Amino acid sequence: MEVVLATRNQDKLEEIKTLLKGLPVKVTSLNNFKGVPEVKEDGRTLEVNAKKKAVQTSRFLKRLVVADDSGLEIDALGGKPGVYSARFSGKGATYKSNNAKVLRLLGGLPISKRKATFRCVMAVADNGRVVGIAEGRCSGKIIFKPRGRSGFGYDPIFIPDGYKKTFAEMGLRQKNRISHRSKALVRAKAVIKRYVKRYVLTF
Ligand code: IMP
Repeated sequence: MEVVLATRNQDKLEEIKTLLKGLPVKVTSLNNFKGVPEVKEDGRTLEVNAKKKAVQTSRFLKRLVVADDSGLEIDALGGKPGVYSARFSGKGATYKSNNAKVLRLLGGLPISKRKATFRCVMAVADNGRVVGIAEGRCSGKIIFKPRGRSGFGYDPIFIPDGYKKTFAEMGLRQKNRISHRSKALVRAKAVIKRYVKRYVLTF
């Protein structure tokens, strides 16, 4: 059996492939297929986007598909940027302009009021039908100035609870141990394992 990761992002792919090791399935990605239609991530929640991507891609490929959507939810901003994390600072948004917007909106709020949570939702679908949903969270705070060079997105302004370094300062290996994405993946792996077992027993 094969499971296709609905992404072309090489960083995400490596991270997900490592964590899915040990499953009795072949792991591939959209890079292995031609002509897969782009799915518009226009849902109002991470769940809606992840499910939409998994359902449409699995219906097209006729395979088991894992799709994810993730974002940063900041308490003082009522949960923003959330599902709009990638394009928070508008058309042509970059990681830098998104971080600058977050820092501007938070202004001089004290550190106790700068709580934030990274969330990742993964949807598993087969032939156009959702077979499971998995979620992972990582809580922390937004600092006052970007720090560090590794990772991507909001990593330079986010310090996870219990740590002193930002995600961008700690490096990928440590980040991957505690990140929202790795937690979601552990749960998605259990969903896939159960599904594959039932599939093998049925056919
Ligand atoms: P995606 O749709 O899951 O690729 O993520 C949407 C956006 O959320 C990204 O463009 C980033 O801005 C932000 N994001 C998601 N995960 C992370 C992370 O691990 N670190 C920093 N930013 C992230």
